[in-house]
Amino acid sequence: MSIFGFPFRGQSPYIARLNLNRAVFLDRDGTLIQEMEYLSRPDQIAFFPGVGRALRGLRQAGFKLFIVSNQSGVGRGLFTLADVGRVHARLVDELAAEDARIDKIYVAPEAPGAPSRGRKPLPQFLFDARDEFQLDLSQSYFIGDKLIDLQCGWNAGVKKSILVRTGYGRELEQTDGGAIAAAIVVDDLAAAAAWILQKEAADKTVATR
Ligand SMILES: [Mg+2]
Repeated sequence: MSIFGFPFRGQSPYIARLNLNRAVFLDRDGTLIQEMEYLSRPDQIAFFPGVGRALRGLRQAGFKLFIVSNQSGVGRGLFTLADVGRVHARLVDELAAEDARIDKIYVAPEAPGAPSRGRKPLPQFLFDARDEFQLDLSQSYFIGDKLIDLQCGWNAGVKKSILVRTGYGRELEQTDGGAIAAAIVVDDLAAAAAWILQKEAADKTVATR
C-alpha cells in the first residue's frame, strides 16, 4: 500500500504530473543570434551577448530548451534544408561548449502561405515537443522578437510569451503595443532568462507560503 491508500501500479496521475518537464522555446534569428536576412551559412552566426550563460542558467534550473524557427528561405528556394542543418550543427556545438545543450530544433521550411504543419504562429511544434519530452506547456515559456513568436506561445498555452528588443522586437514594441500587451518585454535573451528565473523563484515562494 502507498501513502495514498491504494497500491502503486506505476505512477499515480498526481506523481506523473509532478514529473512533467518545463521548457523554454526559443526563436532563432533576432533572438539567439543576430538577425541577418536569409542566413544560410555557419560563419554568419553571431550570438547575442550572454546567450550561452543565460541558456545554461535555464538548464540548471531544470528547463528543457527548444529552438522553433521559420526558415522560409528554403521554401523560397534561396537555400536548402541541408544548409539549415549545417547552420544548426554549428549553433548547437557552440552552445554545447558553453554547457547550454539544446534538446531539439524545430524548423518550418515553407514559404508564407504554403501549407505548413508548424510554421509560427502555429503551435504544432510545441505540441510535438510536449508529447515527446513530457512537457507541461502551462509551465513553459516562449522567447522571440516577432509577434508570431508571441502568438505561437499563446496558441500553445504557455505560461508567458516574452518579447526581446533585439532583432525586430524593438520596432514591434514601438509600432504595435496593443498586440503585445499580454507579453513581457525585455532587452535581450539574457534579460529574458533572468526574468524567467526570477518569476519561477517568486511563484515558488508564493506556492510554499
Ligand atoms: Mg526572429
